[in-house]
Amino acid sequence: MQDCIFCKIVRGELPCYKVYEDESFLGFLDIYPRAVGHTLIIPKKHYRWVHDVEDGNYWEAVVKVTKAIDKALRPEFINYFTFGLDVHHAHFHIIPRYGDVSSEGIVPGVKKISKEEMSEIAKKIYKEGLNINI
Ligand SMILES: [Zn+2]
Repeated sequence: MQDCIFCKIVRGELPCYKVYEDESFLGFLDIYPRAVGHTLIIPKKHYRWVHDVEDGNYWEAVVKVTKAIDKALRPEFINYFTFGLDVHHAHFHIIPRYGDVSSEGIVPGVKKISKEEMSEIAKKIYKEGLNINI
């Protein structure tokens, strides 16, 4: 898909804070983070919805990155979301949650995180992910 921003990230035409990559999937930090370590996992091939993805290893990639986030950032727990309304390229949201989240609601608000911090967070998760085999 020529104009799809996630396809552009896959092709290297747009930068990302990469946390994971294999043959078929790519993980990077959401640039509108709702938590430290808020990650998106996408198939490299363009699909409209997560349930359209034909490669059965999608969930495995999501779990791998979840484990890497858990090790790297030690959140209280981790949520998943799929909306698919903003960018029309299949993506899972992985949202780590910290401390008392009772006032945050199901989907926390967007946080301000500096580029330097985003870069550090991505490196930490990426590094942990290299040691995770499932
Ligand atoms: Zn796409």
